[in-house]
Amino acid sequence: GQKTVLVTGCSSGIGLKIAVQLAKDPQRQYQVIATMRDLGKKGPLEEAAGVCLGSTLTVAQLDICSDESVARCLSAVLQGRVDVVVNNAGLGQIGPIESLTIDDMRKVFETNFFGTVRVIKALLPDMKRRRCGHIVVISSVMGLQGVVFNDVYAASKFAIEGFCESLAVQLLKFNIFVSMVEPGPVNTEFEAKLMEEVSRSDFPGTDAETQSYFKDTYLPASREIFATIGQSPETVAKVTADIISMERPDFRRQTNPFYTPLTALKYADKTGNLSVRTFYNLLFRHGMLFHLSLGFLKCLTCSCFRGRISPT
Ligand code: NAD
Repeated sequence: GQKTVLVTGCSSGIGLKIAVQLAKDPQRQYQVIATMRDLGKKGPLEEAAGVCLGSTLTVAQLDICSDESVARCLSAVLQGRVDVVVNNAGLGQIGPIESLTIDDMRKVFETNFFGTVRVIKALLPDMKRRRCGHIVVISSVMGLQGVVFNDVYAASKFAIEGFCESLAVQLLKFNIFVSMVEPGPVNTEFEAKLMEEVSRSDFPGTDAETQSYFKDTYLPASREIFATIGQSPETVAKVTADIISMERPDFRRQTNPFYTPLTALKYADKTGNLSVRTFYNLLFRHGMLFHLSLGFLKCLTCSCFRGRISPT
């Protein structure tokens, strides 16, 4: 029969595309509950869903940061019976940590970590009782590899990765699968929201040198990376749909082959120096702009495997 798939954060970006991609499945395998915190923003989703709206796709309110909202949504939705959950809702955060308050940082964890955990926790009892289910988390390559000036965001994605790696083992006993999708940069509103936030900041408590590394080195490099190797949210949605269709779904899947060599560095050198110093060289010696191009990453993979990169 049809599987019920609940997706979080569907008002924009990757979540919107995943909901629509699944709802438009030619075999009509999925009944999609596309959820969002603010139903006032459902216009773009409804438009993209087209004829699927009201047949294979319904829209529901869900704020992953509210116990009450999660409970209300799940009791309205088929008495909480969800076969697949796609935990997509999340926030980014960039900038020197001196300029961020602990409360700013907490917001990232409240959403990316505790929000995701809240939804999973609410669904587990029913999935366990029925001995089936698939929990998908939209993590990030930054859940595997830290990235300069993304300190707290990367930490929140590492946190959810650790949670999922731990939980996945227990859940196999219940025939419940966990999958993490790990995109590199994706061209959604995500990056624009970050740029907007930092453009409003006057970086309180941050020395001029650090501000200059962030504004004059990191930001242009980041823009360039999104423009050159950023993926479309459709691509990430297709990868996610592919994992959902698997009988025994993979535990993790990166979506951007350009990033695989970078995440492999930390496993290639057990001192950990190779990845830290490679990132240092990329940012400060060469400027990430040119070197994070396709050609460079190819060279990096080759020379890495031939043992030519020394951690200096
Ligand atoms: P986006 O900003 O377009 O989408 C994020 C969505 O989450 C938004 O619709 C937002 O309203 C929603 N959201 C935030 N807090 C929420 C809450 N409390 N309850 C319900 N919804 C909430 O950005 P996106 O790129 O589509 O991001 C989706 C996911 O992909 C995030 O988890 C993000 O960390 C991850 N990701 C994004 C990128 C990227 O470069 N864009 C890369 C890797 C991973």
